[in-house]
Amino acid sequence: NKALIEIKNLKKYFPIKKGLLKKTVANVKAVDDVSFTINKGETLGLVGESGCGKTTTGRTIIKLYQPTSGQIIYGGKDIAKLSEKEMAPYRRKMQMIFQDPYASLDARMTVGDIIGEAIDIHKLMTGKERTERIQYLLDRVGLNSEHANRYPHEFSGGQRQRIGIARALAVQPEFIVCDEPISALDVSIQAQVINMLEDLQNDMGLTYLFVAHDLSMVKHISNRIGVMYLGKMVELCESNELYKKPLHPYTQALLSAIPVPDPEQAAARQRIVLEGEIPSPIDPPPGCRFKGRCRYAKPICSQQEPVFKDLGGGHFVACHLY
Ligand code: SF4
Repeated sequence: NKALIEIKNLKKYFPIKKGLLKKTVANVKAVDDVSFTINKGETLGLVGESGCGKTTTGRTIIKLYQPTSGQIIYGGKDIAKLSEKEMAPYRRKMQMIFQDPYASLDARMTVGDIIGEAIDIHKLMTGKERTERIQYLLDRVGLNSEHANRYPHEFSGGQRQRIGIARALAVQPEFIVCDEPISALDVSIQAQVINMLEDLQNDMGLTYLFVAHDLSMVKHISNRIGVMYLGKMVELCESNELYKKPLHPYTQALLSAIPVPDPEQAAARQRIVLEGEIPSPIDPPPGCRFKGRCRYAKPICSQQEPVFKDLGGGHFVACHLY
């Protein structure tokens, strides 16, 4: 398992500014000291409730946001502090598929222009070669070449997401952040899009960071899964292991919320209802950030932040129970 990307102590804070002088009065600590690796060719699922920092993590890794601190080592080079000019060769390698297939495509551009624009920005090809590339990409995502002359509003949500995927693929990326790519789609077409993403990954050797708000969505596509809570990574391991042996109380609660088809299993499994609210990321409480909602919380949980550590076999967890 060769790491494509190593993330070390990554932080992304958004300052809250007040007054005429725009003085920073507080920080929203969206991503607060997160470390993990993404292996070449894998799909790493990233899961947590809204506001946990999963999308910000994805966007910061590909430098849509400038990290506050920490390292993003891509293919051996730390890209965290590179200037926009120095980033240019990396921009092509890292792409994003957005959640909302309605908002993420420019309504005034034809599908061909949307895909072609990505090719033009990176000056990859022109003329006939460019046209053929656009046709090839449309074909790869299950659309046809006549669609190139049409506009996004003429397509369904699922088809628009396919256009977004074609746009991301246009520049031959290595790594794609898939930001809840199926959440906005009808259940009937979610599986189609997932299967297509898997086929494309196999054919093109892609690496995915797959962001989702619940564990059922990432189960089949992920090799490993990371669980985030309030800006922190709380658990990370092989996908099967996470479903069989979830260690962090938060992961256990998330898993208990997924419906199981087998009635015997369903009866055996107890739904864990989380009490309490997610604390504000503006001034997160000391100690474990989950303590207000954790049924196992003990005194040390309020005093000391649990360390995110490998308990063996690459099963990482941040909890004082272990
Ligand atoms: Fe619960 Fe303590 Fe573990 Fe946090 S560190 S999840 S409060 S047991």
